[in-house]
Amino acid sequence: MSTTSNSLKTILTRDALLEMAGDRYFERGDNYFRRRSVHDLAVDGDGLTAQVSGSADYYVELWAEEEQLHATCTCLLGVDDIFCNHCVAVGLTWLANPSTAKTQPSQTSTEKTGCLLSSLEFCQPVDARSLPVGRNFFVGS
Ligand SMILES: [Zn+2]
Repeated sequence: MSTTSNSLKTILTRDALLEMAGDRYFERGDNYFRRRSVHDLAVDGDGLTAQVSGSADYYVELWAEEEQLHATCTCLLGVDDIFCNHCVAVGLTWLANPSTAKTQPSQTSTEKTGCLLSSLEFCQPVDARSLPVGRNFFVGS
C-alpha cells in the first residue's frame, strides 16, 4: 500500500510532466507553480489531489498507474484527457517539496475523531460528577 507513493515518486518527474504536457502547457503550468496557484495539495493513497486557482478553481488529480503518470482536471482541457497546465502545476508543486503534501485525512483520522468524540461524551458525566465532589471538599475544609 505504501509502495504506491514510491511509484509516484519514480514516475512523477519534471521530465515526465514535460513529456506529458508538451512545451506549451508545461510552461503555463510552470507559471501557475511560480505564482503559487496550487492549494490544498494532498497525498491521497495512490495519488495527489490539489486545487489550482486560475481564471476559476480547478481540481486536479495525479496518480501513478502501471508505471505511467495519469491526471485528471476539471478544466475543459482536462476533461478532454489533455495533460493540462493545471496538472503540470500540481506536479511541479509536489516535486518542489513532496514533504509539504500532507497525507489527506482519510478513514483513519475520521475514526480517530469519532473515537475522540465518543470518549469525550463518555468522560463528560464522570467530570460532572467529580466536579461537585471537589467543590464540596473545598467548601467542607
Ligand atoms: Zn486543467
